[in-house]
This record gives sequence, structure tokens and C-alpha cells, in this order.
Amino acid sequence: MNPCTLCPRNCKVNRSKAEIGFCGISDMPVVSSVGPHFGEESVLVGSGGSGTIFFAGCNLGCIFCQNYDISHHRNGRQVTIEQLAKSMLELQGHGCSNINFVTPTHVTPAIAAAIEAARKQGLTLPTVYNTGGYDSVETLKLLDGYVDIYLPDMKYSHADVAKELSSAPDYPQVNQTAVRQMHRQVGDLIIENGLAKRGLLIRHLVLPNNLAGSTQIIDFLADEISTQTAINVMDQYRPCYKAFEHNKISRRPTPAEIEAVEKYALKKGLRLIN
Ligand code: SF4
Repeated sequence: MNPCTLCPRNCKVNRSKAEIGFCGISDMPVVSSVGPHFGEESVLVGSGGSGTIFFAGCNLGCIFCQNYDISHHRNGRQVTIEQLAKSMLELQGHGCSNINFVTPTHVTPAIAAAIEAARKQGLTLPTVYNTGGYDSVETLKLLDGYVDIYLPDMKYSHADVAKELSSAPDYPQVNQTAVRQMHRQVGDLIIENGLAKRGLLIRHLVLPNNLAGSTQIIDFLADEISTQTAINVMDQYRPCYKAFEHNKISRRPTPAEIEAVEKYALKKGLRLIN
């Protein structure tokens, strides 16, 4: 983090000296909320909910962000590693099915340290790295052994779209390299008694007008990762934040657009998860 090269932005700011890069967060994490969440995939929810810890700030600049008050306005409170570990143990005590770090990329050192501390104090739940998918391989390698379930977005196949919608023209290539590393660490998704225990679960948000390049993402997963890859083809895109300013994303995808992506994923042999 000093200088910060934690993610592909490579801002090279000194975050311990309160210098701020693209993600907008200094060296200590800012948490916007902690609690059981029942809106995640059923294999993450179970009976007790997914134990989510939402981090403020983000290393992507999506103009349709549904959590822009957290990601871009950075609402939340700064926490220590000890407080983060305590939150994990409290979520476990509440009966949550896992510990789900939402938007973790820019605070990975604190997360790894807190997992280590929490495990020493009795944390046994699987950990979930719930990321926008703009992660560097070097940082992911440092997370090997700390993360049980990788839950990355695969947002785009085309550089021009990634540039326009998320200010990240190298997203497609960075994202594919990151997913390869994630799969190398944890393999295909393992589900026991209806709950995810370990592995890779992809989230793909279908955008209107095929802007996400869905078929290319599915081809990559089936041809270069594994035909056993678990994928959630997400249908909940709606125009938020600045999306109304852009014609192509100012509407929801149609049911036919969603169905075409799901059918293609099944045709390529992938495992659909909801
Ligand atoms: S984690 Fe933040 S400061 Fe560091 S390189 Fe990424 S966007 Fe920049």
C-alpha cells in the first residue's frame, strides 16, 4: 500500500500517509455495514444468512453502480483489524453461513490480517471474496489460504465498454487473468448440504443491448476455466446513479435477453446458480 499497487490501478500513493488513490480509502478499511444478508445466492445464504461486511470505496468507477452511496460517496466508519475480526466472530455467533467481504479489493491487507486474527479466536466459517473482479494476480496470490470462496464479477468482454462504463479499459484482460488465479487456488464450486463450502462462483450481470459481451465471457469460462464453473446469470440490472445519461444502458434488459444468456451458458455446460 505504500506506494499502493494493490490493484491494477497502481495509483502508487502512500496510503499510510493518508494519501488517497482511485478507491478513495486510506490504509484502514471503512465499513458501511455488517450483518446477515438474505439476498445473496441461495448457496451462500442457508438458514442464517450470508455474514456480509460491506466496505466503503471501490477501485472501479461504474456509472450504473447500485451502491454508489457506499462505493463512491464512501459512507461508513473506519475500523481496526481487531474490530474487523470481532465482527466476523459476531456474525459466526449469529449463525451466518459464511463471512462475505463485499468490495474487498482495496482493503485486502486488513482483511487477511483480520481473518488470521479471527481464526485464532475460533472462526471456522468459509470466507467469501465478493469482488468486482478488477484484481491483480500479485495481490490474489497473497490471499491464497485466506479465501475459501471467490465470488468475482465478470462484467465486460470489450475494452471500449469497460472504459466507458467503469473507467477500466483493461478490465476484460485483468478480469480473466484474475479469474484464472482464483480458480487455481480454490477450484470449482463445492456445495455440501445446499451450502457453498469452497470454490469459484462467477457473477455475470446481463446488460441491455448485449453490452456485457455475455457469450464471450461464457466461452472463456467453458473453454479456459472449467465446464463445471458455477455462474449466476444476474437479471437485476436497472439504471442507477449516472446510467440514465447513457442511451444504451438506460433500460432494463428484456426477459428474452436474459434467457438467451442463460441458455447459452447451459449449452456450454456451465452450472447455473441462483
Ligand atoms: S487499491 Fe486504491 S489506491 Fe491502491 S492501486 Fe487500487 S485504486 Fe489505487
